[in-house]
Amino acid sequence: MNIPPAAILGRYRQALSNISIIMRLIYLSLLTALLFSCNRSKAKVDKDLVLKIQPFIGTDLNEINEVADSIRKYYPKVIIASPVKLPDFAFYAPRGRYRADSLLKFLSGLAKPNETLIGFTTRDISTTNGAIADWGVMGLGKCPGNSCVVSTFRLNMTKGKNQFFKVAIHELGHTMGLPHCPNPECFMRDAEGGNPLDEEKGFCPKCKKYLHNQNWKVL
Ligand SMILES: [Zn+2]
Ligand SMILES: [Zn+2]
Repeated sequence: MNIPPAAILGRYRQALSNISIIMRLIYLSLLTALLFSCNRSKAKVDKDLVLKIQPFIGTDLNEINEVADSIRKYYPKVIIASPVKLPDFAFYAPRGRYRADSLLKFLSGLAKPNETLIGFTTRDISTTNGAIADWGVMGLGKCPGNSCVVSTFRLNMTKGKNQFFKVAIHELGHTMGLPHCPNPECFMRDAEGGNPLDEEKGFCPKCKKYLHNQNWKVL
């Protein structure tokens, strides 16, 4: 077949541009997977794991004791540390609130090898969510990881203790390696910027099974 040189060049360019589109799609899907995945296979089962509540100064210690008792029904090894000051490096001056991702770094630094730390604060906390640079949240947890943080700032305080507990158990679920759950009544439901906590009734059977394998008392 006799193909003119210009046509060959055109085909070659077309092939190159197809490859570049495919490469871009692969890159985007990898990026999406990284941002939204919660790597369960990385969650290791540690029989001696201790959940340590780390209050930040200003939180009500009676409320913390009650939340600790509620968490113990699901995982008995819960201890409470003395309150510490919120670290200055986590303060986000433009919004007068604390960066949850920075608080996770701070808490991870305090955690002993067999500990997962859960920070409690009354101050508003935020993180980056996709294109939104500073997005207010009720809590944030590494998934899996050794730190999470809960803020009472956005909770409905007439139902405060119950909501406080629900956010805490959700973030602890992330630290154990649980991703968000599509079941609207499950503790691992994604709040998606709202406060659906009153619709949550417990861990769904699927999340229970996972946590049971991580030594939680859920079955
Ligand atoms: Zn979550
Ligand atoms: Zn679930």
